[in-house]
Amino acid sequence: MSSTAPAKHVAVIGGGILGASTCMHLARAGAQVTLVTAGPLANGASSRSIAWLNSSGARTAEYHYLRMLAIDRYRTWSAHHPESRAYIRFDGAMKWAGDNETFRDTFAFERSTGYHSVWVERADVARIAPDVNADAVAEEGAIYNPGEGWLNMPDFIPALVADAVANGAEVLENAGDVRVDVQDGAVAGVILGDGTRLAADQVVLATGGEVPAQLAALGVTIPDATPAAFVLFTDPIDVEVKTVLNTPRVAVRPTPDGRLVLDSDWAEQSVIVEDDGSFTVPEESVQGLLDEASKVLAGNPRLTAQKVGAGLKPIPGDGEPVVGPVPAITGLHVMFTHSGATLGLILGELLAEEILTGASSPVLASFRLDRFDTGVAASEAVSTGAWAPVNQN
Ligand SMILES: Cc1cc2nc3c(=O)[nH]c(=O)nc-3n(C[C@H](O)[C@H](O)[C@H](O)COP(=O)(O)OP(=O)(O)OC[C@H]3O[C@@H](n4cnc5c(N)ncnc54)[C@H](O)[C@@H]3O)c2cc1C
Repeated sequence: MSSTAPAKHVAVIGGGILGASTCMHLARAGAQVTLVTAGPLANGASSRSIAWLNSSGARTAEYHYLRMLAIDRYRTWSAHHPESRAYIRFDGAMKWAGDNETFRDTFAFERSTGYHSVWVERADVARIAPDVNADAVAEEGAIYNPGEGWLNMPDFIPALVADAVANGAEVLENAGDVRVDVQDGAVAGVILGDGTRLAADQVVLATGGEVPAQLAALGVTIPDATPAAFVLFTDPIDVEVKTVLNTPRVAVRPTPDGRLVLDSDWAEQSVIVEDDGSFTVPEESVQGLLDEASKVLAGNPRLTAQKVGAGLKPIPGDGEPVVGPVPAITGLHVMFTHSGATLGLILGELLAEEILTGASSPVLASFRLDRFDTGVAASEAVSTGAWAPVNQN
């Protein structure tokens, strides 16, 4: 990024992938930047994500384009940072339809956009993806996307932050519940959990599933479809799994240390949000995911659970990213999105550039907060049904 604007002090709230990426890009461009986050880095959704890097399925042209740029940025990062290849992988992904469904239309759509998508007959599964149990694949076959992959954000976020610090950024972990300090309609900085005020010219709100509540506290309503969710981490397994799998009953991706991460919509719906805000995952859901994952893997390996990661899965009301200025409050910028693993590098780069140059990125034009009537209650906005999600990864 090139900028002739004077360096500004920017405070970034949130130590997930979006905050870390924005912080790094700001620091690289010469801004004075402070990242403040409630606990340790990477303790939110970014620590418990399937993190499948993709532009799979039907999407608007604008969103598909953004996601393709996003994937490209990871390829470039990986080329320049060989050590990252342990946790940024492009080993391909496979998906297939459930009973009484077909993925032929999805395949046709993907091909129509030029997306790297290959139809695989059951008989060819073992050759293309030897880690997949061909018998579990839908009778019609499967879609294989050779250019997709996965990211392990608890490895990547510290790398982004180290890069930011090397370029002069300050990082405050364990800062508690940080709030935006607004005075006379403009940001004055942030207020840390202990009441300390930190002055800033610009503030980036990147607090994942907490964004809607934090904006609401500032009088701005944003349609919110954030559910409670969880992933299950298995113990290390002794077979090699490289392909990301999105199947009717389970999604699977490997980790750098030889485990699997599993999730599924049916399991997500079983999460219980307790009165104190904590999350309980029923034992049947844990065992169910282990069983479903074993079925779709070649050799049906025995899988055991290491840990559950449960919490909010940030999703704007219409499913698409919300990035850029908060019109009502001068100097405040928001980042709130699903698919933040895929989008992390590009959104941080584009938002940093906007903040430092003052020029709006045309790539983000469809993803502004002001596409919503921010005075409409979230439940009303979501129930219009204008958006039909294709998948939630
Ligand atoms: C189960 C699941 C599966 C997913 N699968 C995929 C996938 O396959 N592909 C994909 O691309 N994406 C996927 N995602 C989405 C992706 O993981 C998220 O979009 C991304 O991690 C969000 O990053 P974030 O930085 O916005 O939020 P987070 O990672 O949640 O980070 C927010 C940070 O803000 C901090 N914070 C919160 N409130 C405050 C406060 N008041 N003061 C200070 N700090 C605060 C938190 O402690 C946290 O560190 C998935 C998510 C989940 C949960």
